[in-house]
Amino acid sequence: MKQIIVGNWKMNGLCADADALVDGLAAELATLSPRADVVVCPPFTQLARLAPKVRQAGMKLGAQDCHKDKSGAHTGDISAPMLADLGVEYVILGHSERRAEHHELDETVREKTVAAMAAGLTPIVCVGENDDQRSAGDSQATVGWQLEGSLPQGFRGIVAYEPIWAIGTGQAASQQDIADMAAFIRAELVRQFGDAGKTIQILYGGSVNARNVTDILPVEHVDGALVGNASLKADAFVPLVRAAR
Ligand code: PEP
Repeated sequence: MKQIIVGNWKMNGLCADADALVDGLAAELATLSPRADVVVCPPFTQLARLAPKVRQAGMKLGAQDCHKDKSGAHTGDISAPMLADLGVEYVILGHSERRAEHHELDETVREKTVAAMAAGLTPIVCVGENDDQRSAGDSQATVGWQLEGSLPQGFRGIVAYEPIWAIGTGQAASQQDIADMAAFIRAELVRQFGDAGKTIQILYGGSVNARNVTDILPVEHVDGALVGNASLKADAFVPLVRAAR
């Protein structure tokens, strides 16, 4: 299976920065012919204007959230069909920052995942334990509950394992921790979805950078990376794409 490298720009990127970043990526990727799929997830405000450039550079466009409903009285929200209408193909759902700052529960994430699938988007559903859960030895139990609660029946999409304690800290999980959790997630996906669970892609996210990526991407059951900080500069992101198989 092709690996996938996803850049989560979070709430970064005015027009000039976004243009420069996509132009920089396009120039580097043109010389690379990447084996992996490359997805960039800018803020909502950049999606429409970046869509043609991203497509032309052979990358795919993702968003960072969507609403569970198709339309209606939800001031400030964006629906999955609105994203699809712009040429968006992926949507990150249940990121730990949304779970924390917007009080999203597993049930919320599941409803959004259903909406994304119905609109033809590929949901990238994030799960991961926090520091306390990890210290208590509850990492797998936490992720197990999140998978059970966040993934709907007939799930078609991607699961991103993002330990919260690793996000934005510069300290990625160890190769062994990633291997153990990826194997656990694979087993859970097969338990929940049968044979279909064997082909659901599993990403690792949390301080992936050019130094640690070559330890992370070869891990069994890891099908790519979800990248925050290192996706904001072409010269930090491109080595991750280069390392993918
Ligand atoms: C993220 O928040 O999805 C993420 C992986 O961030 P970082 O790479 O900065 O840890």
